[in-house]
Amino acid sequence: MKQSHLFAPTLREAPSDAEAVSHQWMLRAGFIRQLASGIYSYLPLGWRVLRKVERIIREEMDRAGAQEMLMPALQPSELWKESGRYDAYGPELIRVNDRHAREFALGPTHEEVVTALIRDEIASYRKLPVTLYQIQTKFRDEKRPRYGLLRGREFLMKDAYSFDASREGLDASYWRMYEAYRRIFQRCGLNVRAVEADAGAIGGEGGTHEFMALAEFGEDTVVTCSRCDYSANLEKAEVRASGEPVVDTAETPAAYPAMEKIHTPGARTIEQLAEMLRIEPRDIIKTIVVSADGQPVAVLIRGDHEVNEIKVKQQLGAAQVEMADAETVVRATGTPIGFVGPVDMGIPLLIDQAVARMSSGIAGANETDFHFRNVRPGRDFPLQVAGDYRQAALHDPCPRCTEGTLQFHRGIEVGHVFKLGTKYSEKLGAVVQNASGQAEPVIMGCYGIGVSRILSAAAEQHHDENGLIWPMAIAPFQVHLIVVSVKDETQSEFANRLYRALADRGIEVLMDDREERPGVKFKDADLFGIPLRLVVGKHAGEGLVEFKERGREGKTVLTAEEAMDRIARFFLFSD
Ligand code: ATP
Ligand code: MG
Repeated sequence: MKQSHLFAPTLREAPSDAEAVSHQWMLRAGFIRQLASGIYSYLPLGWRVLRKVERIIREEMDRAGAQEMLMPALQPSELWKESGRYDAYGPELIRVNDRHAREFALGPTHEEVVTALIRDEIASYRKLPVTLYQIQTKFRDEKRPRYGLLRGREFLMKDAYSFDASREGLDASYWRMYEAYRRIFQRCGLNVRAVEADAGAIGGEGGTHEFMALAEFGEDTVVTCSRCDYSANLEKAEVRASGEPVVDTAETPAAYPAMEKIHTPGARTIEQLAEMLRIEPRDIIKTIVVSADGQPVAVLIRGDHEVNEIKVKQQLGAAQVEMADAETVVRATGTPIGFVGPVDMGIPLLIDQAVARMSSGIAGANETDFHFRNVRPGRDFPLQVAGDYRQAALHDPCPRCTEGTLQFHRGIEVGHVFKLGTKYSEKLGAVVQNASGQAEPVIMGCYGIGVSRILSAAAEQHHDENGLIWPMAIAPFQVHLIVVSVKDETQSEFANRLYRALADRGIEVLMDDREERPGVKFKDADLFGIPLRLVVGKHAGEGLVEFKERGREGKTVLTAEEAMDRIARFFLFSD
């Protein structure tokens, strides 16, 4: 393609509200433009990248035996009511009415539609397994749309759904998708880690992985082991208990100093308390009141640890767990935040294993401006439910191997594989006859990839201070051919010859044939990030062209033939 015809409006500077590097470069290089918050147009260069990502996804999904189809974005609300998600999905679901005042939702995902389809069309286990997928625009009214394509309100997703008649079948479908995902992200040139993730309320099947592209602007925290291949989303990262819990109810009172009430005026936070008493946060038993489906529960955590609300939620089997606000804490415990403690506590207690292993600690006395010292787990409060309720912390021992410690990274979730089980098939009545003629709900898996999010993830991982550097497989063009002076006939002719030769070999070339100053052309070329560059300039008369790789130092002056060979080498082993 000739650049003189290309619609790629570049910007000298990024708009001030573009925080993520990928967002800045994609705007500056003219790949995307915002229409409204979280809603973007893909301009020709961005669209070309998107199409390449889609192609890779299609090839790998087809290779894994999935079949492509396309389902409607506009979905009747009845279907969502049947699954119970019309209300549960909350304000993220965009609701619209038709002219007859019938309610519809703009699909944020397609479990309902696809499950209803299978329910209506498949009656026997003999027709299974089936895996269906689509690449389609999704709508989610995100609370905080941001970072360009990373968190949009309208975005492109590949969603796949597997239907099996047995658990073993689901396992096989799941791992086939997992493998396909690995290949997809690798082919897209992304540095991605598959991490164990929280299965949420649907869980219990023991299967969900997120594929995380490691990047500074990632919204998720990924925990990895320094030694083994353990990796998990921080939400899910397990904490290994060390030492035995102190349960010694039979001990004589003299065996351990008794509890003692101490005056701690105004010491509401761990920091204030530690400073006032000249102790370490780890000597404190922190009592956090959460609201689990509206019911107060107290979680005991060591002062230097943080509560993991997802672990608490799992333990309680609650649909929602959130920190209780100040008012709720007073109502539930009779004590203001900062002075609540486990001794004679009137609400259910969850005790973190690290607290259960403390010989004693400082805890709130359930009285404003007072704490207890020498609070002994098992003696001064019951130890029935000790478990893992805290957030993993940097340098914690790895929960899998014995030698490693935990490291933290930021990650962008580019894909997600999930064993759904029978959650949707039961709700929507998608049953099939099994081999003995009985009706059983089909067993499902769902598998998502953020197609548009991949563009941003790739841009986060591949750029420098001058612009983007696309991995070859998803680059908008493969070769950028720059003619320094188009008015110079020798240069023009030589460049045109190269252009035709490359195009004849099926190589995608963008030729900068604009009447612009060389400085402008090189700046734009850096912005675009096309991986290979040929510059036809003052050596054109000698039949020589300059070759350079974007993102690498050094240029080589080559003859046309040498340049063709050099370029061909980049495609010898590509997919
Ligand atoms: P997140 O935790 O980032 O909100 P999610 O768990 O809601 O993601 P899924 O419902 O699993 O996401 O959707 C499948 C994939 O779609 C995700 O792995 C992600 O790559 C992509 N995705 C989800 N929400 C968005 C969004 N708002 N903008 C762009 N891509 C998204
Ligand atoms: Mg989400």
